[in-house]
Amino acid sequence: MYTDTQERESSVSSNGEESAQNNLNGINILLVEDNDLNMEIAEFYLSDRGAMIEKAWNGQEALDKFTSSAPNTYDIILMDIMMPVMDGLETCRKIRTSNHPEGKNIPIIAMTAQVSQECMDKCQLAGMNGHLTKPVTSEKLIKTIMEFTI
Ligand SMILES: [Mg+2]
Repeated sequence: MYTDTQERESSVSSNGEESAQNNLNGINILLVEDNDLNMEIAEFYLSDRGAMIEKAWNGQEALDKFTSSAPNTYDIILMDIMMPVMDGLETCRKIRTSNHPEGKNIPIIAMTAQVSQECMDKCQLAGMNGHLTKPVTSEKLIKTIMEFTI
């Protein structure tokens, strides 16, 4: 079994064209999004770079998946804000106050079409680590994930 670092290094050296800067090999992502098309696009960008994706279609499903996961299952959570059943902010607060050993520390990045300061403040207050504006580009997505996982 490779460690994350070994896996990334070997992947980079075996493919000279792929720079280490856009390599997400070995990164496990909980992708939370209720919109089919947004889910498909994000999944495509991420899996194209070697990331492993677990999908959740609303906040409750994400919360259940995270809180029942073994430690180190996920490296980062990408969280839509507007979702049925439980929205992204509430989900983030529940993850932060959960008993999961990584609940307080796992990076959670909001994905939202709203760019207002009020929205960013709400995300921060809920315990989000960062914020991606929709439509999310491949470059911004990869760059943000790398900031928080490597
Ligand atoms: Mg949504």
